[in-house]
Amino acid sequence: MKDPVVEQLQRDVLAIATEDGRLPGTEPHARARQYLVDRLTEIGCVPFRGDAYELPYQGRGPCADQSFVNVIGVCPGDPEQRHLHDPLLIAAHYDSVIAAPCADDNAAAIAIALRVAERLIATPTHRDVLIALFDAEEPPHYHGETMGSMRFYEDQRDGVEFHAALVMDLVGHDVAAPVPIPGASMLVPSIPRLLFVMGSESHPALPDVVRHATDHADKLAVVTALNRYVGDVSDHFAFRINEVPFLFLSCGRWQHYHKPSDTPDKLNYHKMARIAGFLEHLTRGLDEVTTGRAREHDTTAFDIAMFKHALGRIGTPIAMKAAGLDTFETREDFDKIAARLMAGGLY
Ligand SMILES: [Zn+2]
Repeated sequence: MKDPVVEQLQRDVLAIATEDGRLPGTEPHARARQYLVDRLTEIGCVPFRGDAYELPYQGRGPCADQSFVNVIGVCPGDPEQRHLHDPLLIAAHYDSVIAAPCADDNAAAIAIALRVAERLIATPTHRDVLIALFDAEEPPHYHGETMGSMRFYEDQRDGVEFHAALVMDLVGHDVAAPVPIPGASMLVPSIPRLLFVMGSESHPALPDVVRHATDHADKLAVVTALNRYVGDVSDHFAFRINEVPFLFLSCGRWQHYHKPSDTPDKLNYHKMARIAGFLEHLTRGLDEVTTGRAREHDTTAFDIAMFKHALGRIGTPIAMKAAGLDTFETREDFDKIAARLMAGGLY
């Protein structure tokens, strides 16, 4: 049976995850960008500033003679209320690290962002939601001054403060058993369905929103974790250091990470459709709460409860055993499980 959402996700990935990739400054990068502009137009987004979705900027340092382009569309909030609230931001980078499809990194996230945009246009939130498709996330720009999200935050947001930032990277694939225990993925069917959500610790309002969104995502196994376990590995960096509450969604690294073998045929479009649904619920949930500046708080009990729920009665003891744990109650315990997962190559 054909699912129109899955088909649209597939079309969007195939359109931009071409053989030539999306290296900044190249013709295929410009072609992918034009496709994103056409899609935002078709969906009914409006430009963030001026009359164009494309916000060009000049590189910095060694890339000073190169130009880059962030693509930003807005899903306008309720006309009566939008001026009362800071906008939310959903972000994903569209550049590629090599001249290859880079489907999971990050065409999948772009397709999901477009799907959520469609939903928000159909049923608006109170506040505006920016769909931020950033340029130059990949090396050599990663964490540098030319990074698209950094230039957006510093030069292009026109003083707008954000309610929160929801950032995606590597969200198109099934997770492989991170723990080399024979049969682990057979015993624990939730492993391929894992989705990691980092950043709940950045504001006390976030855990409840994540928990409620998870209630509507029964076919995803959502594990929350501290951002410090994985680090500022994507565009949430620019928002975290500027004290914007954030969530970073990722399925982690996999064997095709940054390789020519990261192709559209390897993605799980059904999982992507579920992530889009989850992200929509996160967005609507966040729309209802008060945030303000980031405010770090303890998420130990929340993270452990989410982990146990995601891995289940069979998966949890397997993960505990792999991490050498007899009990699973403290942040130290969670640190050990996270370290074990990281050692399995997740990040
Ligand atoms: Zn990458």
